Amino acid sequence: MDWDWCPRCNGVNDDSLLCPACGGQMRDQGRIYDFYDDYSAYMDIDLIKLADGVPNSSKRNECVHLFKCGSCGVDMPKKITY
Ligand SMILES: [Zn+2]
Ligand SMILES: [Zn+2]
Repeated sequence: MDWDWCPRCNGVNDDSLLCPACGGQMRDQGRIYDFYDDYSAYMDIDLIKLADGVPNSSKRNECVHLFKCGSCGVDMPKKITY
């Protein structure tokens, strides 16, 4: 499938992830950029470039979402490629 937008941001793909810590259901909290101030520790070089406005996101077709476990509360960023 050749998406030209993030299926998760648009509510098309709402598959849940399994928590690596407890095996519970992790829910999509939305794009990680909405949490940038709190989660900057997670940012790698590529993400920082994107956040700085380098216009390569359309080429990469990536969107990073934050997932949070409903059971143990652990959260984890996950790169969505589409
Ligand atoms: Zn997205
Ligand atoms: Zn968990």
